[in-house]
Amino acid sequence: MVATKADQGSTFRSGFVALIGRPNVGKSTLVNQLVGDKVAITSPVAQTTRNRLRAILTTETAQLILVDTPGIHKPHHLLGERLVQSARAAIGEVDQVLLLLEGCEQPGKGDAFIVNLLQQQRLPVQVVLNKWDRVPVETRPEADAAYRELLSTTNWPLHHCSALSGEGCPDLVEAISAQMPEGPQLYPPDMVSDQPERLLMAELIREQVLTHTREEVPHSVAVQIERVEDMPAKGQGKSRTAVLATVLVERKSQKGILIGKGGAMLKTIGQGARLQMQTLIDGPVYLELFVKVVPNWRTSAAKLNELGYSDDRM
Ligand code: GDP
Ligand code: MG
Repeated sequence: MVATKADQGSTFRSGFVALIGRPNVGKSTLVNQLVGDKVAITSPVAQTTRNRLRAILTTETAQLILVDTPGIHKPHHLLGERLVQSARAAIGEVDQVLLLLEGCEQPGKGDAFIVNLLQQQRLPVQVVLNKWDRVPVETRPEADAAYRELLSTTNWPLHHCSALSGEGCPDLVEAISAQMPEGPQLYPPDMVSDQPERLLMAELIREQVLTHTREEVPHSVAVQIERVEDMPAKGQGKSRTAVLATVLVERKSQKGILIGKGGAMLKTIGQGARLQMQTLIDGPVYLELFVKVVPNWRTSAAKLNELGYSDDRM
């Protein structure tokens, strides 16, 4: 028999990896770091990832489809429940789980809850102790020991990483790839996300809202992209993409904060989002933003569906 290349150890592997972890642990940052492109919204405010996002990482030997999930946490209201359902559903659809833990904090009850939940699955799990850059060198052995204790009933590999700086990430990609089943390329190698551009645009606007308003307008914001159109060039100017979007808030007071004095806040948000969108579509963007009050949009199932927070149970 003639040995082919594949027999000699260059087997291609592919599959789905769910990123699981508490809100704010750095899942979206890790996705962006691994894919080398901005596909997931990240923010200093917990619980910003609302839609399940698939990012695609293709290397010489593997294609990893990363499923960024909202954090698993105790539900507070309808939107919270949807987030948890979506994270649980993601576990059911993947080949491997990447559990992210907060390296710069002590392990807590929530971590034990997630470890327990994952132990009931048969999937391979690897653990990332993230934000390792924030752990002072002298306390690293202590932090490492605390997390090894948390994982003592498992045989899951533990990786120390910084999703922000990329430290530890190349080794992580190798370790994940090695655990993947053999399989073909499922997406073209230059594709980094399976989300439609409109959804990414909406997420970029929402990210700017969260960045600039922080505590005052926490999670009661949704963004609807109303129209995306090509604007033909006028005279000497270049053609642009015009985007019309509405920011939904729940209360009149939040609308006031978003618009700001003389419209200053909305202008800042719009400028920030416009720059990000230009990178996304690789061309000039004209962005028009409106703010609309829709009382209780978060507890209205119909509204959630309309905004794309689909009700996908396990
Ligand atoms: P998610 O809710 O799990 O998706 O968390 P995000 O990716 O949105 O990150 C939450 C915050 O933690 C952001 O401000 C990130 O910049 C920050 N962050 C994420 N990973 C790291 C890391 O490895 N080191 C440091 N210092 N900060 C990080
Ligand atoms: Mg996130």
